[in-house]
Amino acid sequence: MDLPKLAIAALGGTVSMQARNAGEGVIPTVSGETLLASVPQLTTLARVTVETLGLLPSASLDFELLLNVLSWAEFQIKQGAVGVVLIQGTDTLEETAVFFDYLWPHDAPLVLTGAMRSAAQPGAEGPANLLDACRVALSENSRRRGVQVVMNGEIHQARRVRKTDSLALQAFTSPVVGPTGLIMEDRVHYLRAPAQRTVLPLPHQKTQKIAMLEASLSADTLFLESTLTLGYDGLVIAGFGAGHVSQSWATVIEHVAESIPVIIATRTGSGSTAQASYGFHGSEMDLIRKGASMAGFLCPRKARVLLWLLLGCQRQHELSRYLKDESCIQN
Ligand code: ASP
Repeated sequence: MDLPKLAIAALGGTVSMQARNAGEGVIPTVSGETLLASVPQLTTLARVTVETLGLLPSASLDFELLLNVLSWAEFQIKQGAVGVVLIQGTDTLEETAVFFDYLWPHDAPLVLTGAMRSAAQPGAEGPANLLDACRVALSENSRRRGVQVVMNGEIHQARRVRKTDSLALQAFTSPVVGPTGLIMEDRVHYLRAPAQRTVLPLPHQKTQKIAMLEASLSADTLFLESTLTLGYDGLVIAGFGAGHVSQSWATVIEHVAESIPVIIATRTGSGSTAQASYGFHGSEMDLIRKGASMAGFLCPRKARVLLWLLLGCQRQHELSRYLKDESCIQN
């Protein structure tokens, strides 16, 4: 029987990390080829091509590199792969997933995975996650679902998934909605139908800078006031509660929003920003009046990715349309 073609790329992360010498911290050294050798079962499921596109801690990935990875992944689909799996660090997985999701135009699945335990650690779950991710990428039911994250036996939608624990095995959750699916007894089970997706054109501009600031109690406005003079092209605020800031921040935000797009998200880690509930100075209604946009269910970090991409393809005027999609959760 002709097995389906599957493409895998490794970018680094804990999954590929081990210590050079006893007592030293782990660093990315394990290639994609070696990771693949840890899942021999895969040879009965697919014809696999694997490449090591990077050996980086995921904190050091950047948009430029992700665009190269994206074009590699697109090439694999054009060459007949039924799906693509990317292995990377988990620290920025929630951001890379949404970055790819906004740009992935294919029905074929793009699946991201990693591990919380390094390669040589007892109970390292990298091989299990990789095998699960491959099963998801090979499943016919994964088509038209865009980019998904597979970790710890769960499948998460790129737009909703977050790293919500620093070290636990169960580090990834999708607040409010939960996982889209599960891998049980080697089978992929979806809990919901695919959601409607919006895909953006590739950014032709890549030098735009987006600042991200978190509101905190009794915070000064020094950095906020410098946003424009420092040359930022966009600003994302991780606001209090349903998307609120202090009176002093609201005044500065009004000034900043006259020149560049400003998005207010919630710093709470779960739930949506409000639209029409609070009227105080610094509330969501006040900030909307002052020219800011509310992020809906999009977390601050994902909102920053969206704004960078929109500015990159000169679609910033459509920001409210894209954020409107984020104000209601489908499925
Ligand atoms: N701790 C991270 C990980 O889980 C390191 C990284 O993101 O590269 O992979």
